[in-house]
Amino acid sequence: MKLTFWGVRGSIPSPGPTTVRYGGNSSCVSLSLPGAPTVVFDGGTGARALGTSLVAQAQADASTPRDVVLLFTHLHADHVLGFPFFAPIFVPGWAVRVGLPAADEAEVQERLGRFMNGVLHPLRLAELGRQLSYFAVQPAVPWAIGPWEVEGIRLAHPGGSVGYKVKGPTASIAYLTDSQPLAPPGAGVAAGLEPTSAEQRLIDAIRGLDAVIFDTMYEYDEYLTKMDYGHAYPEYAQALCAAAGVKQLYLFHHAPDASDDALDARAARFAEASSPRIAVAREGLVAEF
Ligand SMILES: [Zn+2]
Ligand SMILES: [Zn+2]
Repeated sequence: MKLTFWGVRGSIPSPGPTTVRYGGNSSCVSLSLPGAPTVVFDGGTGARALGTSLVAQAQADASTPRDVVLLFTHLHADHVLGFPFFAPIFVPGWAVRVGLPAADEAEVQERLGRFMNGVLHPLRLAELGRQLSYFAVQPAVPWAIGPWEVEGIRLAHPGGSVGYKVKGPTASIAYLTDSQPLAPPGAGVAAGLEPTSAEQRLIDAIRGLDAVIFDTMYEYDEYLTKMDYGHAYPEYAQALCAAAGVKQLYLFHHAPDASDDALDARAARFAEASSPRIAVAREGLVAEF
């Protein structure tokens, strides 16, 4: 199983001289396994390079499945901007199954269609090819796609967000963004206290996972001034994953202003962490499980 980060930013793509090493594309991560559908988490601007790569790979090797399962956490712009530029949705012979939290398939199309409506993008969703299909994600109801077992996990974010846990043949991984802490400052796991009931539910959902990708957009001080913005900070993700016995944590959904130097300093701060091990996600990072 191969986990690849194509975009690691939150809120808005942020290219420029201070984001060269960690990348400026917004949220998109893929999980692949030979012969299996590629699981894609979110369609931020990182999805453009992923789509190009998938199509090139399939052209080079005819045995590659032309099959993608694209799971949206929610439809804030930083998570959907790359979708209309994701090559497999335009190339005949591909199947792209799009899932997002909704009551039913019609609502999925209606919500995604508000973004591809002929105004924000020249195409309308209905004009796209028949390689696209849609399904509604019901949090906490697991389902299977090929060799993958998938489950949506409800997170705490303005307007709602649903993360995903994916169990594959050799590892289990969760992609959890966007989410604010599930306890106020001074309470819960980050304060060294008993988890709140919401924290306990999340800890139970991610217990023992091989890897968790978590929203750590802010440093703690900044979080204190933006507590209702729907994002967390590294020490929160660390405490949560430690309580759940997670092996590897990826700090993710970096703020647009988080420079390469600031993210290097963050990586150095957690270099010695062992349970979980902690890495700062960067564009192009590939991990094998
Ligand atoms: Zn976001
Ligand atoms: Zn969001």
